[in-house]
Amino acid sequence: MKIEVVSDIHKRICRAAMRADRDPADIKLIAVTKTVGIEAIKEAATLGLRFFGENRVQEARDKIGEFASFISEGGYSGIEWHLIGHLQLNKAKYAVRLFDLIHTVDSVELAEELNRRAEQAGKTQRVLVQVKLSEESTKQGVPEEGLLPLFEKLNSLACLKPEGLMAMPPFFDDPERARPYFRRLSELRDEAEQKGFHLPELSMGMSGDFEAAILEGATMVRIGTALFGRRS
Ligand SMILES: *Cc1c(COP(=O)(O)O)cnc(C)c1O
Repeated sequence: MKIEVVSDIHKRICRAAMRADRDPADIKLIAVTKTVGIEAIKEAATLGLRFFGENRVQEARDKIGEFASFISEGGYSGIEWHLIGHLQLNKAKYAVRLFDLIHTVDSVELAEELNRRAEQAGKTQRVLVQVKLSEESTKQGVPEEGLLPLFEKLNSLACLKPEGLMAMPPFFDDPERARPYFRRLSELRDEAEQKGFHLPELSMGMSGDFEAAILEGATMVRIGTALFGRRS
């Protein structure tokens, strides 16, 4: 991985933030490392990346294990692992052990199971709620009408800390077409905040559309291909 690639992404994030009259420091770059080998992840950490996103528990488990000694020997601090893929109930236990932030809570059952596992582990688990924004997409997530009951449930679970919303719009060649979906996620967040839920984070935007997402309020952009190249 070249330093130029990382700095180019940072510049693009900054420029989009400026256009939106936002502070670039409010936007976290999540480097999506699914299918990426451990050496490339170490390079990315050396180049200053701190947040890593994986979409499968098993793959993350192997990598995080390998990465641990590198972190402690190298004195890297502030590294976080994020789960950005769908989580099955029976993997909740491992997810709680591995991930600092789980972006994909999409049911009351999963929230309850994560809370139970977090309690056993003596941890407060940070989570985001994944929202299903369109019928056409096969994407996971809670439909809009399911959000308030889920937020209420989350507030009642002592070992979970809900921090915001996540979504994946359908894929478009033209990122402008994804913007209404990003805007909708922002609106849903604003509506939830008006009802008293504190949900500052918006995880939205990938390699092809992260600038559009930032213009609509993204606080976490999840970028794989633009950092690590095409996945094989
Ligand atoms: C793979 C993936 C990304 C990154 O996609 P790129 O187009 O490679 O940047 C972001 N979010 C989720 C949920 C993913 O699975």
